[in-house]
Amino acid sequence: MSNPRIQVEKFWTSEGWRRNVSFVPGDAASSPELLSGHWLPGIPNTHSHAFQRAMAGLAEYQTDAADSFWTWRELMYAFAGRMDPDSLYAVATQLYVEMLEAGYTSVCEFHYVHHQPDGTPYDDPAAMSRALIAAARDAGIGMTLLPVLYQRGGFDGRPLNARQQRFFHDTDAYLRLIDALRTEESPMLRIGVCFHSLRAVSMASIDGVLAALGGERPIHLHIAEQMPEVEDCIAAHGARPVRHLLDRQPVGANWTLVHATHMDASEIRDLAASGASVSICPTTEANLGDGLFSLPEWRAANGRWSIGSDSHISVSPVEELRWLEYGQRFKTGHRNVCVGDADDPFRRHVGNTLLAEAINGASGSTGRDASAGLIRLDTSQPALYGDDEALIDRWLFSGNRSAVSDVMVDGVWLVRDGRHRHRDGVADRYRDTLRQLTG
Ligand SMILES: [Zn+2]
Repeated sequence: MSNPRIQVEKFWTSEGWRRNVSFVPGDAASSPELLSGHWLPGIPNTHSHAFQRAMAGLAEYQTDAADSFWTWRELMYAFAGRMDPDSLYAVATQLYVEMLEAGYTSVCEFHYVHHQPDGTPYDDPAAMSRALIAAARDAGIGMTLLPVLYQRGGFDGRPLNARQQRFFHDTDAYLRLIDALRTEESPMLRIGVCFHSLRAVSMASIDGVLAALGGERPIHLHIAEQMPEVEDCIAAHGARPVRHLLDRQPVGANWTLVHATHMDASEIRDLAASGASVSICPTTEANLGDGLFSLPEWRAANGRWSIGSDSHISVSPVEELRWLEYGQRFKTGHRNVCVGDADDPFRRHVGNTLLAEAINGASGSTGRDASAGLIRLDTSQPALYGDDEALIDRWLFSGNRSAVSDVMVDGVWLVRDGRHRHRDGVADRYRDTLRQLTG
């Protein structure tokens, strides 16, 4: 079934549950199909490196007592070195099917593995980007593709090492890549702009790209994920990374800063005031030992945020939102940290507030109308029994079985009874690909 006119029995909004809400994805048919049960908007996943899905769980083996983000990165580079357009397509399709089954209906794909392993462009320089676009299309997920500009090995301007060669573009080649991909834009695909990080791209290069592209495309970059990066930025520029960016670029509502784990009070205040959003990736940040985002301080400054699954050590909005809140409980010694105003009983529920802010905070990051995604929770599961007002609390904090039963994106049923319509075929290809990659 595609392009149906539908009405759902109960629909969650950030202000409360609504009854008998109609949706008209595509052309309106005669009378709406009434769908029973509890429905939510699809959840945006605002930070993904699809190829890393294939190495999730392969780096949980101690090689040195000082294992860290930086030793993990070496393994990740080795893994990236084995990817080609066919294997990237297979891994990304598997990942996007998993995302849809978990309730993510759009993804911001932060894509930096562009060339052949020795750095030579493919015959089609956009081949790896097109593999990701094809994976999103075939899985049915909405995509904001973020081709990454990656030019140097550190704040000191050192060149890329051998393993980083396949990430490199000069600025003209990068602009040609964006130009080539722009022609593929559609309601389901937006092309954004992306700088890997301030250590990998100079301010002059950012200036050059933004001068050429202008406009209001989504702009993403990693920032202040690890303390050595903060220290290197201070050594090179006399300022912390977020401060340095705010001083030098027109940061605004179309900017997404990924992680922003290490900010001081004035950076939090000024970044929030800029209207930019942060993409927080709690399970990856925990897995890599990054640190805890300053969520209470960020929310007190009216900062906008969303979630990403980043390295895909977990592909679950439940786990990201649960650990976002739990991290703050560990840090503060308090319960129920992420809640709305006292005069709004619905938003005193942590679940309702987490979900509302994660969805609303993503609009500038996706640059798309994400309203096309719709998911149903399986309220026949005992863990979800009870009143509607606290249903999202039970979904996010009680139990570990996936409760997402049905997913529709852009008028197409992709998941029924918890299973993506292409689950088996996609998994078969993924298994074969993983054997080649790890063999
Ligand atoms: Zn990342």
